[in-house]
Amino acid sequence: MVWVKDTRWEKLDEAKSCRFIGGHPKTRCPNNGDFALRRPNGFWAYCEEHMYGGRIRDGVIEVPVADNSPAAKAGYV
Ligand SMILES: [Zn+2]
Repeated sequence: MVWVKDTRWEKLDEAKSCRFIGGHPKTRCPNNGDFALRRPNGFWAYCEEHMYGGRIRDGVIEVPVADNSPAAKAGYV
């Protein structure tokens, strides 16, 4: 497994509240996020805990991909 840049994420100019909703009963995450995921209906901010397995390194979001996968060779997804 290797980490590559996830180009679906954008750094926000200012932190916005995390859009993640979970738990029992369901509640909105109280954290702010510095990054937003591009969705068909706009950019949705998420905190580092809720980046779907991504991590922040040097100001970019990285995700793990399989060794020798096309994404690993390209260096991004
Ligand atoms: Zn969150």
